[in-house]
Amino acid sequence: MNYDLVIVGGGPAGLAAAISAKENGINSILVIERDRELGGILNQCIHNGFGLHIFKEELTGPEYAEAFIDKLKALNIDFKLNTFVLNINKEKELSVINSVDGFFKIKSKAVILAMGCRERPRGAINIPGNRPSGIFTAGTAQRFINMEGYMVGKKVVILGSGDIGLIMARRFTLEGAKVEAAAEIMSHPNGLNRNIAQCLEDFNIPLLLEHTIIDIKGKDRVEGVVLAKVDKDWNPIKGTEKYIDCDTLILSVGLIPENELSREMGIEIDPVTQGPKVDESLETNIEGVFSCGNVLHVHDLVDNVTKESYRAGKCAAKYIKNELKKISKSINTVPSTGISYIIPQRINLANAEDNIHIFMRVKDIYRNIKIIAAVNGIPIKEFPKKQLYPSEMESISLKRDELFKFNPDEISFYIE
Ligand SMILES: Cc1cc2nc3c(=O)[nH]c(=O)nc-3n(C[C@H](O)[C@H](O)[C@H](O)COP(=O)(O)OP(=O)(O)OC[C@H]3O[C@@H](n4cnc5c(N)ncnc54)[C@H](O)[C@@H]3O)c2cc1C
Repeated sequence: MNYDLVIVGGGPAGLAAAISAKENGINSILVIERDRELGGILNQCIHNGFGLHIFKEELTGPEYAEAFIDKLKALNIDFKLNTFVLNINKEKELSVINSVDGFFKIKSKAVILAMGCRERPRGAINIPGNRPSGIFTAGTAQRFINMEGYMVGKKVVILGSGDIGLIMARRFTLEGAKVEAAAEIMSHPNGLNRNIAQCLEDFNIPLLLEHTIIDIKGKDRVEGVVLAKVDKDWNPIKGTEKYIDCDTLILSVGLIPENELSREMGIEIDPVTQGPKVDESLETNIEGVFSCGNVLHVHDLVDNVTKESYRAGKCAAKYIKNELKKISKSINTVPSTGISYIIPQRINLANAEDNIHIFMRVKDIYRNIKIIAAVNGIPIKEFPKKQLYPSEMESISLKRDELFKFNPDEISFYIE
């Protein structure tokens, strides 16, 4: 089987990338999705708040996904469901499996990686205590309640203040459960401010900052958890222990981009984002392999996933049409004081558009500061910002012509 473009993952990233590649002149496109339907994780996000930027209205997750699925179908783009990509080699040959066609190979001129991310499980955060039933990641509980019709608990404690956990605090409450508290080890919440207000404060659910769980009680089913305040090194402070009676513990402690396929094929991974390192065209270190959406870096809003993935589709189309120039020199982007990561990690000016969009996350909460772009320690541009939160993705843009003037080897970004 041969295609010009194969997209791995049929979530919002894969859908937008496919639509954009088609609109940019590519006809032979296949989207591969391992789940039973297109739409990715949005299918289980039945709350509203999606699409404010793109559609200027608040849609639910399934409504947002549906708009793109309809468009994909109207454009006659091929897709395969219940189909799993096992491996991709450097020659862009994919090993694929499903229960209808069995094991088969697909050769493609370009590949877009759009596999999304998965949740960090209990094993990744080492909570001591027994292993009773009643411990779920927020996304698993979300799928059970919103898609499969099972209520997973009645008295709930949430560990972590990521957006999925916050959304689930509200969902549990609306479904009749009592959410006793959300505990966050950091000194600030991890989720968006609007979710803190609408999902915790509106329902009088306490958010315990600088707290973690130090014990889980119960043998067959969770019976309670012990919380403690932590010091600045995140060690529990003796004497602050507090027992909360509950039957369910929900973990919302971060997302991990699903890059097993990328690592195996030799794609360079950024140790901070846990996603591929890309250039301004969202191309990885393997020519013709692009990446977008949550597999590239964890996004705050799905609208940003869609915009980024449109760009990946457009650039993959350019590559297939031989319109991406091969470059020997690129400018490395370096996150410095206060910035945890930068996307893209390198910029090829010859392929860059007039405005080069730079995405980043900051390490702490900052107010009335400037983001500085500097070459050889000398600031070349500053961007005043009223407030920045680690939970929100920040973006700035640089003019391609301005960068041409300096033509540096690297450009650093820091907070002042
Ligand atoms: C549990 C959970 C809940 C979330 N809730 C919200 C929310 O309430 N609000 C919000 O704004 N954002 C939410 N997000 C963030 C949301 O994931 C992103 O905004 C957006 O869905 C990311 O799009 P994506 O296409 O990159 O990833 P996804 O939506 O995760 O789609 C990736 C797709 O790739 C498929 N895939 C992966 N590997 C393979 C493979 N090897 N072969 C074939 N297919 C594969 C997956 O099955 C999946 O359908 C949530 C994320 C998670 C994990």
